Amino acid sequence: MHISVIGTGYIGSVTGACLAEMGHTIVFVGRDTRKLDMIRAGRSPIFEPGLDTLLTKNGERIETTTDLVRAVEETELTFICVGTPPDKDGSSDLSQIREVSHTIGKALGTDNKYHTIITKSTVLPGTIEDVIIPILEKESLKKAGVGFGIASNPEFLKEGTAVDDFFHTDRVVIGVRDRKTAELLENLYRPLNVPIFTTTLRTSEMIKFASNAFLATKITFANEIGNFCKELGIDSYEVFEGVGLDTRINPKFFRSGIGFGGSCFPKDVNALIAHAKSSGIIPRILNAVIATNEDQPKRMVALLKKHLDPQNRTIGVLGLAFKPDTDDIRESRALPVIRMLLNEGATVKVYDPVAMAGFKKICPDLTYAASASEVLDADAVLIVTEWDEFNNLDYSGKLVIDGRRLTRARKEAAVYEGVCW
Ligand code: NAD
Repeated sequence: MHISVIGTGYIGSVTGACLAEMGHTIVFVGRDTRKLDMIRAGRSPIFEPGLDTLLTKNGERIETTTDLVRAVEETELTFICVGTPPDKDGSSDLSQIREVSHTIGKALGTDNKYHTIITKSTVLPGTIEDVIIPILEKESLKKAGVGFGIASNPEFLKEGTAVDDFFHTDRVVIGVRDRKTAELLENLYRPLNVPIFTTTLRTSEMIKFASNAFLATKITFANEIGNFCKELGIDSYEVFEGVGLDTRINPKFFRSGIGFGGSCFPKDVNALIAHAKSSGIIPRILNAVIATNEDQPKRMVALLKKHLDPQNRTIGVLGLAFKPDTDDIRESRALPVIRMLLNEGATVKVYDPVAMAGFKKICPDLTYAASASEVLDADAVLIVTEWDEFNNLDYSGKLVIDGRRLTRARKEAAVYEGVCW
């Protein structure tokens, strides 16, 4: 099929490259010509393992443009993959969604063929029916489900393993109003040979939020019990290994540490809280998840202060990305940890294999080391992201506070404190 993908961030780049790998012709629509040039040259605009290979391999089926109207006119399907960042009150900022909906609607008005629009961006239940469809219908003078197709298709991939997750997802969720659109998307995803769950637009939108809220809750539960384990001298990793063997519970996303970050969990849980409140529901569990997650990084600095006063000392931080194998620093736990260290009067020396350029833009006044081993010269080392290469360092003689349980640091450090073990 001929497919347009709007947005060349994490989700747009992966969706387009993977659909190209499935044999489709892709038009990437972006605003940043530098990113579009990279895609055309077979280079990923984000750090994501395997993406360069797919873009290079399928280059002959990949086009790029800044002209959204033309892209809609020339394709049969359009995936909306623009950002839905948090608004000031925690709810979703839908300005990017509204803007592209207006332009798509105008293009649909002059497009004689049947076109289907698929929302992959994470949007709250009701957004497609209450915001996107009215804009599309007003601009195109066509009816959803009659003049054009509309679907919800939330994305569940994880940054760092996004390409593999796309092809081996646990399930594809499709929200539709009509059978024709359901069949079109079911046929599109059938070659993946994974379970396909087809439902209504609103239910599909809610499945995405409920999934992320559940995973954030599961991690937070592991952290709360982990904090307790640490006080009792129990290894929380062993506890959750034992608990996770119960098939009703499952071991994944069940490790304690310094809390969740990234572009999705904090934003989506907060958006769900705001939406629940405006619907008259008191989201007690979700409120507690956010509050507990905010407290978790404070434990690292508290543990450090048990051994050393950070004032006028150099404290090393290993890892800035919110998790390994990505350059994404959105809501990374490194941010609150570093802010607390600076407030304590420390000099902070940091290293991350791929996320330093992005971090420098928001925290220019840190010492950015040229290598991980340079960070080990500091008076103490805090491990924030579990990059593989941090397991190759020699921690002997060091004071280490570990938020991610690195095997080698645990074995070798002269003084070692794990946050929950
Ligand atoms: P992102 O900020 O990395 O990318 C969004 C892109 O959309 C940017 O490149 C931006 O320039 C582009 N854009 C905005 N308006 C545009 C326009 N009018 N025309 C062309 N391009 C436009 O965001 P992301 O991480 O890729 O997330 C996108 C959506 O997917 C969000 O709703 C997010 O919640 C959801 N999501 C993200 C992940 C993830 O792991 N990053 C996982 C699942 C779902």
